[in-house]
Order: sequence, then structure tokens, then C-alpha cells
Amino acid sequence: MDLASVVAPESLLEPQGRFLSDLMGRGVVGRADAVVLPSSVDEVAAVMRWCYENDVALTARGGGTGLAGGAIPVDGGVVIGFERLNRVRQFDPLLWRMHVEAGVTTGDIQRLARENGLRFPPDPGAAETSQIGGNIACNAGGPHAFKYGVTGQWVTGIEAVVPPGEIVTFGGPLRKDVAAYDLKSLLVGSEGTLGLVTAAWLRLVPAPELELPVVGLYRDAEAGISAIERVLGSGVLPAAIEYLDDVTLRVSGETYPFGLPAGAAFMVITEADGAAVEARRVAGELREALSEDAVAVHAPEGADEVGSLWRWRGGVAFAILAQRGGAFSEDIAVPLDRLRDVALATERIGARHDVPALSFGHAGDGNIHTTFLFSPDEPDEEKRADDACHELFDLAFELGGTVTGEHGIGWLKRGQLIRQLGETGYDLHTRLKRVFDPKGLLNPGKKL
Ligand SMILES: Cc1cc2nc3c(=O)[nH]c(=O)nc-3n(C[C@H](O)[C@H](O)[C@H](O)COP(=O)(O)OP(=O)(O)OC[C@H]3O[C@@H](n4cnc5c(N)ncnc54)[C@H](O)[C@@H]3O)c2cc1C
Repeated sequence: MDLASVVAPESLLEPQGRFLSDLMGRGVVGRADAVVLPSSVDEVAAVMRWCYENDVALTARGGGTGLAGGAIPVDGGVVIGFERLNRVRQFDPLLWRMHVEAGVTTGDIQRLARENGLRFPPDPGAAETSQIGGNIACNAGGPHAFKYGVTGQWVTGIEAVVPPGEIVTFGGPLRKDVAAYDLKSLLVGSEGTLGLVTAAWLRLVPAPELELPVVGLYRDAEAGISAIERVLGSGVLPAAIEYLDDVTLRVSGETYPFGLPAGAAFMVITEADGAAVEARRVAGELREALSEDAVAVHAPEGADEVGSLWRWRGGVAFAILAQRGGAFSEDIAVPLDRLRDVALATERIGARHDVPALSFGHAGDGNIHTTFLFSPDEPDEEKRADDACHELFDLAFELGGTVTGEHGIGWLKRGQLIRQLGETGYDLHTRLKRVFDPKGLLNPGKKL
């Protein structure tokens, strides 16, 4: 029995370019024997059953915005994409919850929530393309994860297809449920290696009445990191604490909506949110904490100004990429007391490998996008940028951190998990993998 006999003809595609790579770059293009875009959960189950009966690898693909090569079919077989499984099954704004299929984009979820006075807080940067299934598979974060947490914290239930092709549900439209082992959370962040997420119940919150960013600009990283430490110690809870270093400001500062003052070489973005009175109080405290040693403090107020700040922040990754045409942007995370070490080590690592280096990211979570730039026309420079990334991973371990705070292990960081967990912890992971996927057909070569 061939694959065509278990799926609808319109669900089956010839393997095409866009299904063979993601945004990790590094010239890695996979190969696939077929691409399936199912339009129902039953079809997902049929595909997995067929793969299990025929010993064929099965790689899940969401929006393909991953930066770790997780969706690349490195072992051939079938790619299963979720873009046609994109219905909102149920939305109960008065109960602050939504039931969506895996292929709904992050941006559509955020918009639907916002149009109804609610908020889905996870805000990973490629929201218009990434899908909720991919966000769950990577446990994606974003700037506002500082106050609101990462994707998994907003998922109360998951429907998934697990080998050899069974549809299972863990959790649901429940706000509390401690009956079982927490298999829902096990699937969150499993990067398509344990099962295929087909739908999720999401928790929402009322949208804040006011969002008030407060931006501090400093003459150097030392002064900026001290400001971050003062914010953390100030006793208020900002929604976000982001930073951008001097090189990042140089490449993206021209379009900063409020104009970069002379001498500004480090930026800290914080935000107060909530009911108007509370947001104003917190913004005042943030301004006080950020003002010491600042070259300038900007506190935009109107919705347009606030929107333009975050749009600019969202565009920083693209301004960076435009510099030399290529950029490897990693996502190590370290304990907060080691943030300074990462910010200062970036330049050192770049210099050692002779590539331009910069860093920015989610400072409040110790989750830093250290980035090495290269020209794709210069293969040797690309190789040196990649080597710099591997030195960065070593640094993450030295500082008691992790090689990934949000992008996942994927293909890029294969081999790193055993270094992070040690043999016993890693062995437990491989045994769990075998329980779910005894034939090892789900996203082979990734995570473990
Ligand atoms: C400009 C830019 C900014 C970014 N900013 C952030 C950020 O702030 N925070 C952040 O966390 N990430 C960020 N990312 C990375 C990326 O967008 C996220 O990791 C996102 O969650 C990936 O979702 P996706 O749908 O594109 O997944 P894909 O790239 O398609 O897949 C990612 C992984 O999930 C698996 N997968 C996908 N769908 C499913 C499914 N339905 N079931 C099981 N497994 C599945 C894949 O096999 C793969 O292992 C950014 C990327 C870009 C390009």
C-alpha cells in the first residue's frame, strides 16, 4: 500500500524546496520522498500509521521559521506540514480560552485575542509565519516572556498523534488538572520527536489597559547591565526587559523612532503594563531605576508611539541580517548574575574568529541572541561564524546556562544535550523517546 492510498490526493505534494529547509541557514537542505499537508487529524494519524508500518522517517513542519534546523528532513522520508490544519475550533472570549489547530499562525491567535479585549502573551519574533504547533514544539518565548512566561505556560491541553498513529489528548479546556503525569508538558518543547501536535487549548488573559515602555540609553555595556540589575532589584515586575548592545544599535539605530542621542552605545527596553494606575506607577519606578548614569531615557506614551517602538524592536533581526547578508543568531540563556559575562564575551569571541559580533535579547530572562555576521559569498567567513557559535555554546555551559533558551536543540545543537544533562539525565531522555517512538522515526537526528 503506498502513501497515496491513505491520504486525499490534494494533501500529497512532491517534495519541494521550501519544505526541505528552515531559517537556520548553513546550507543545510534535507531530502524527502513525499510532503503531506493533511487537512484533518485523522489524516495525520493515517500518515503516521503508514510511516510506522513502512519504517519511514516522519518530520513535522510548522511555519519553517525555526533557527535550529528542527524542521529539516535530514533523514529523508515524509515531511508533514500543518498549514491546512488551521481552524479555530472554539473561542470563548468570556472564558479567556481558545481551541486551535496546530497550523494557525501565532499572529492570527494574537489578533483574535486582541480584537476581543484579550491577550495571548507569547510573542516570538516571526509571528506572522510561525504556527502554534511549532511554538509548542519549541516552547517559544519572546520579549514579554519575562512577565508572562513561555508558550507552554499558556497551553492547558494538547491533542497529538503519537506512534504508531494514535490520537491522544492531554489536558483540555481546564485551568487546573493534576490527575496524570504531566505528558502535556513533555510534548511542549519536544521538537516533533515524541508526537505530532494537532491542536491545543490555549489560556488567554484580559489585555492590559496600558502598556508603557521605558527605554534607557547608556554609554557602554557596563552602565547598561548595571541599569538592568537595578530594574531587577527595584521590586516592580516589568512585562519585558530587553537589551541591545553597541553594534546592534549601530546597525539598527537609524530607524529607532525617537532618535538615538549621541554617545548612546547600549539600550535597555523595559515595559510597564496593567491597569492604567498600576502601569503608570510601575513606569515611574522603571524610569527611576533606569535614569542613573543614563545618556537619555525615553518613555513613549501613545499607542502609536508604543507600537512603533515594538515594531522597530521586531525589525532589529532583519536590520542585522541586512548588514552582510548572513547572520547566525543564537539563543543561549544564563543565570541572571552571568548576563554581564555574556554581553562582554560576545566581542571577544567574535574577535577570536575574526567575524563581526553583536548581542541583543531578552535580558530579564538571561536569554541572549549573540549574533555573528558573515557574507554568504565568503564560505570561510561563514565557517568562522559557525565556529564562533560553538565557542558560545561552550561559554553557556561554563556560565551554568543552556545552549537554548527558546529556539530548541534541533539539528544545529545536536550532541549538546548530553553535555548539558550528563549521562544519567540524557539516558532518561533516550528511554522516554523510546516509549513514545520505539522505532525512532519521528524527526530523526534532532534533539537527542
Ligand atoms: C526573525 C525571527 C525572530 C524569532 N524570534 C523568536 C523569539 O523571539 N522567540 C522564540 O522562541 N523564537 C523565535 N524565533 C524562532 C522561531 O520563530 C520559533 O522557534 C517558532 O516557534 C518556530 O515555529 P514554526 O511554526 O516556524 O516551526 P518550524 O520551524 O516549522 O519547526 C520547529 C520545530 O517544531 C517542530 N514542529 C513544528 N510543528 C509541529 C507540530 N505541529 N507538531 C510537532 N512538532 C512540530 C518541527 O519538527 C521542528 O522541530 C524567531 C525566528 C525568526 C526568523
